[in-house]
Amino acid sequence: MPLVTSKEMFEKAYKGGYAVGAFNVNNMEIVQGITEACQEEKAPVILQVSKGARAYANHTYLVKLVEAAVIECPDIPVVLHLDHGPDFETCKACIDGGFTSVMIDGSSHSFEDNIALTKKVVEYAHDHGVVVEGELGTLAGIEDEVSHAVGSYTRPEEVEEFVSKTGVDSLAIAIGTSHGAYKFKPEQCTRNEKGILVPPPLRFDILKEVSKKLPGFPIVLHGSSSVPQEYVKMVNDFGGKMPDAVGVPEEQLREAAKLAVCKINIDSDLRLAMTGTIRKFFAEHPEKFDPREYLKPARANIKEIVRHKLVSVLGCAGKA
Ligand SMILES: [Zn+2]
Repeated sequence: MPLVTSKEMFEKAYKGGYAVGAFNVNNMEIVQGITEACQEEKAPVILQVSKGARAYANHTYLVKLVEAAVIECPDIPVVLHLDHGPDFETCKACIDGGFTSVMIDGSSHSFEDNIALTKKVVEYAHDHGVVVEGELGTLAGIEDEVSHAVGSYTRPEEVEEFVSKTGVDSLAIAIGTSHGAYKFKPEQCTRNEKGILVPPPLRFDILKEVSKKLPGFPIVLHGSSSVPQEYVKMVNDFGGKMPDAVGVPEEQLREAAKLAVCKINIDSDLRLAMTGTIRKFFAEHPEKFDPREYLKPARANIKEIVRHKLVSVLGCAGKA
């Protein structure tokens, strides 16, 4: 099937009590690892491209890689989504250039300016059959060029006005998730018996308040990697240095997916799987220099971590 929008995907996810995974793509191995897992698990998927990915890999290469995945994975619906569109021009370039979904991130603007910017993108997108994700509240952390030292929670009293005035199709909210592999500072956390940081719980009270004000409306969670400690350990065991990297516990994401959350963004976990695998390979095979030999196990581990997310975290396996 051709690329689709997320409209029907989200309707089914909302009713079915699961979320669709939105995974960031930057090169061929990442696209293949994600989509092979989704094809085998019969899961719908959102492949998303950030401003940084477009700068790194070039818009055309990314679109063509995703189109190749659509041909190779004929049994699953695939959305091509712009992650954190910074302005109208970037959104327009993606809408004109083959994307089926865009995010306009006006969260650093005032409430009024965010509404005006988002509305402008929605009007252009809907005229071209493309859906739009907006954002209210800001996440802490760093993701490509999106960076905030401190976040601010979404204010539930603002969501109805924002959605009705802009016409957005989904809304990213801030309930305590965070971008990157260092989601929480040690002073925000406690430590478990192994000395690993345990982050503060997500604000489910805000999520529930938001969904009460927007019944049936799809909510999006950004910054939702769980930073698996086996990969942090692999990175650190083979020459890396990622002290106190910590993410959002998977049980909390599973809980959110049962509620109004229909899209969960996961990027850092795939980066960790890829980097840990390559570091280990280099350490164990210092004589090897064929990129295919280290990219192959990296791609295989991306596939396995995505499979785990589909089955055990998102609940979207078998929902294609
Ligand atoms: Zn994000």
